[in-house]
Amino acid sequence: MNAELIAIGSELVCGASLDTNSQWLSQELESRGWTVTRHTTIADDLPAMIETLQAAARRCRIVLVTGGLGPTRDDITREAIAGAFDQPLVEDESELQHVLALFARLGRHMPDRNRIQAMRPRDATHLRNNHGTAPGILLNVELPECMVAAMPGVPGEMKKMFHEQLVTMLPESSVFVRRVVLRTFGYGESHAEELLGDLTARGRNPEVGITASGAVISLSVTARADTESECDVLIRPVIDLINEKLSHAVYGTGSDELHDVVRQRLADEKLTVSLVEGTTTGGLLSQWLVHDPERGGSVVRSNRLVSGTDDMDDLVMLCEAVRNSADYAIVTSHSVYHLNDDGTAVMHGQFAVTGRGLSRVVNVDFAGDLGIFRERAARMALNLIRLHIGGHPVGRVAAGNAVR
Ligand code: ATP
Ligand code: MG
Repeated sequence: MNAELIAIGSELVCGASLDTNSQWLSQELESRGWTVTRHTTIADDLPAMIETLQAAARRCRIVLVTGGLGPTRDDITREAIAGAFDQPLVEDESELQHVLALFARLGRHMPDRNRIQAMRPRDATHLRNNHGTAPGILLNVELPECMVAAMPGVPGEMKKMFHEQLVTMLPESSVFVRRVVLRTFGYGESHAEELLGDLTARGRNPEVGITASGAVISLSVTARADTESECDVLIRPVIDLINEKLSHAVYGTGSDELHDVVRQRLADEKLTVSLVEGTTTGGLLSQWLVHDPERGGSVVRSNRLVSGTDDMDDLVMLCEAVRNSADYAIVTSHSVYHLNDDGTAVMHGQFAVTGRGLSRVVNVDFAGDLGIFRERAARMALNLIRLHIGGHPVGRVAAGNAVR
């Protein structure tokens, strides 16, 4: 059961605003068993809107549109729906009374231009907007059968209209969709994919999607079936297989951040960390670990590295001195740019992590954004502590020395 989303607005296409409505609606539809197959963003351009609406309605069972329902001249979604499905625009007396009453309640005269908001394509109905003046539009067409619904662009109004008006009118999906996301750290994207074999091939059920961000690889496992429990039955062995193949690299689920997982683990085990940060992590570790500044959490000391050291042994010695009575210490060096043979500038830094039975120095090289470099270095350091607490081998430091 497929759905498509159309976001209308020149401000979205030119890059001034981000289309967050479609992101939100995709999640809402998916949780109700719909598969969103396409997002289209178009400017306030009538012929383009008509063409897109017609094509989308031919392809799927639900088309949801957001934006362009206001009273201004650039708000032309109602004209586009009328044009796309060959309907005249008619004035809806009860909607007009509603908009007039809304202005009266606010003690304001309704500008003539707002009258347009009481217009709808002949066979459509209005979706009441209890939180603004722009009503939505609902039209069922037969192209094959498709429900076209337009809602205001303002995210707050759109979300309320979706929940208050549209949800009960959506056709029932005959399919359940369930998604589990596993978060991993330690393998690069292609290495993870290689280990997973043909699990990530398209057209499988469950489908396994793989995305990378800041050296974190997320694997989303999406099952579609007639019932929720059938989805679970399909998902379980795939999750088990991922856990087996990527083993200790799997650190969490959903949108779990590695640093949150490590901070929680330290707190649970009543373990402490001492930090000295140079520009390789630039204070990121203390920002991530000292979640509650009042109490400081597991961080017993946090300092800025004053003078640099290039010597690996020095870094370990400093780390052990800093650790003192803490369970773990992380010392990060200052970072420097150097030029590769091919002329690319690569940021280089180092960090040491020590703890009982743990002593590691790791080089971090990264050609790219300084913020990403720091996140990567900080995650690598925290991952060593995570592995050590879990009793896992910390010998392999993948995602380190990564040059992209
Ligand atoms: P109105 O003009 O009555 O406010 P509208 O339906 O005409 O409602 P737009 O004019 O298109 O909506 O947009 C109103 C506001 O909502 C703008 O600030 C716009 O940036 C924001 N907005 C519109 N579409 C989206 C979207 N897809 N995602 C996030 N914000 C959006
Ligand atoms: Mg508008």
